[in-house]
Amino acid sequence: MNETGKTFRVGFTGGEPFLIPNILEAARALTKKHFISINTHLTSSKIKEFAEAIPPDKVLFIQASLHFDELEKRKLKSRFIGNYLLLKGRGFNVFAEAVAFPPFISRLEEFREFYGKEGIDFSFGAFIGIYDGKKYPESYTEEEISAFGLDVSEQSKFLQKGNLCNAGFNAAVVFSNGNVFPCFQIKEKLGNVYEEIDFYDAPITCPARQCGCPLNLYDEYLFEKALKSM
Ligand code: SF4
Repeated sequence: MNETGKTFRVGFTGGEPFLIPNILEAARALTKKHFISINTHLTSSKIKEFAEAIPPDKVLFIQASLHFDELEKRKLKSRFIGNYLLLKGRGFNVFAEAVAFPPFISRLEEFREFYGKEGIDFSFGAFIGIYDGKKYPESYTEEEISAFGLDVSEQSKFLQKGNLCNAGFNAAVVFSNGNVFPCFQIKEKLGNVYEEIDFYDAPITCPARQCGCPLNLYDEYLFEKALKSM
């Protein structure tokens, strides 16, 4: 990456990036020249070292997935809260997001009060899947949309077929074996991070009926840059 002379943004996403044995080493090396972002459940014991060793201005964001039930079940609420406040205190752009799982509606006030008191403001993202025989996000009622604070227009972002996209042009996904693909939907291998990557010569037209990770929206800067190159 350094040899290209370009600046990269490397987004570490789920599974759980902090389970990667050398994530701190990788983050340290990458942030010398490049930028990173992280999606994490924020309960790893490595967060403290991360917060101390990595410069916040090289971390575009840390999205902390707030799993209410799991944190309770595994007695990790205080770990999550402590890590969140530590990162925030050190100037990281950290924010919490929970999934608007339909049965949570009855406990919304409880969640908001508990985490709010601890200094954690969180938002909800739509649940995508089947619950109680109903397909979501399509089955949210008006009342649920308003209670969870969901943005319904958000859903159209997952329907990208026919739209221009920078997948494979100046953005790509990398799997743990280093293999590089344009995105999670397009299975045409572009190379491997340990060898070479043959990026496309131009942005593409999205071929997928549904996209869970639209690269043309998740990094607007790179998408705009791709459009300007046409
Ligand atoms: S599936 Fe998503 S990331 Fe892939 S080309 Fe379509 S919009 Fe872009």
